[in-house]
Amino acid sequence: MKLIDNHGRKINYLRLSVTDRCNLRCRYCMPAEGVELLGHEDILSYEDLQRVAKAAVSLGVEKIRITGGEPLVRKGIVPFLSSLADIPGLRQLVLTTNGLLLTEMAKDLRTAGVQRLNISLDSLKADTFRAITRTGDMERVLEGIAAAERAGFPPPKINMVVMRGINDSEVLDFARLTLDRPCTVRFIEYMPTTKEENWQALAVSGGEILDRLAACFTLDPIEKGMLAGPSRDFRIRGGAGAIGVITAISGHFCSDCNRIRVTSTGMAKSCLFAHEGLDLKPFLAVRDPTVLKNALLRLVGCKPARHGMSSAKNDHRAFAMANIGG
Ligand code: SAM
Ligand code: SF4
Repeated sequence: MKLIDNHGRKINYLRLSVTDRCNLRCRYCMPAEGVELLGHEDILSYEDLQRVAKAAVSLGVEKIRITGGEPLVRKGIVPFLSSLADIPGLRQLVLTTNGLLLTEMAKDLRTAGVQRLNISLDSLKADTFRAITRTGDMERVLEGIAAAERAGFPPPKINMVVMRGINDSEVLDFARLTLDRPCTVRFIEYMPTTKEENWQALAVSGGEILDRLAACFTLDPIEKGMLAGPSRDFRIRGGAGAIGVITAISGHFCSDCNRIRVTSTGMAKSCLFAHEGLDLKPFLAVRDPTVLKNALLRLVGCKPARHGMSSAKNDHRAFAMANIGG
């Protein structure tokens, strides 16, 4: 049995959130006071997370992205990652991080078998970075990126959430990072996850980002790989790296969606914007892998053809991205 939904999409990518906690408070992700912290009893144990991962891989998942909250703040993350890397059939184990702890941890993550890092960095200006993250030190992230390269990671994918009037003036500077470095910079459309008044005013569509880039550079499209995420990728002609645009709101890449998500509390979601999820805890309690697999098959059977979010609507329900993992 494989995870194929009712719209013919093959699900080969699991985003697994290991914690809702974070050492930053990015304004687009959570309220200033942080999210209501869950108790340890509400969070899946590493053993259960591993069982979810194994069940998913046995059903055709080939890529797992570990996310959070900030995944590197959870104690014991390194041995857990090693245990995932050992799952037969898993082709890619990757991780998304804000980079703050990479200076200390990059080497261990590499040894554990993490193949690639996505690092969130929304500004190259220390004061803007602090304003967006509310507490963050940009230099630490830059040091973390350098540490990851020293540890032998391939050049990182840098994720920038573009917000009008806040950091959108830096789009070209971010793109220029790829001229002489083989890194990838991905511009992410701002999604209205927290209850931000007038969120449309902050949103910059992927189309506008590409127009701004195309006004300065010649962009050559890059073919997508089998396990690729939702970004539309380009190379600036003559550049060493790549740029990508993730148009979750405007672009509706839903027809190519190959992913499911499981939160740190065990809620499985077939779509980022789905209001409901499937609680895996009762299925995990049975301790029979077949029961868990059937639950994942049921989840995928209900995967919507597309999400209903649009910048023309203002009826979204607020949620903290840190609970779901992006
Ligand atoms: N803490 C890690 C980090 O920041 O990379 C991993 C978790 S974070 C929730 C995963 C990704 O979601 C990050 O790249 C972040 O920028 C993105 N994200 C969070 N809230 C978002 C929003 N409202 N719109 C677009 N992207 C968002
Ligand atoms: Fe934390 Fe990542 Fe959310 Fe920022 S985007 S608050 S770093 S979980």
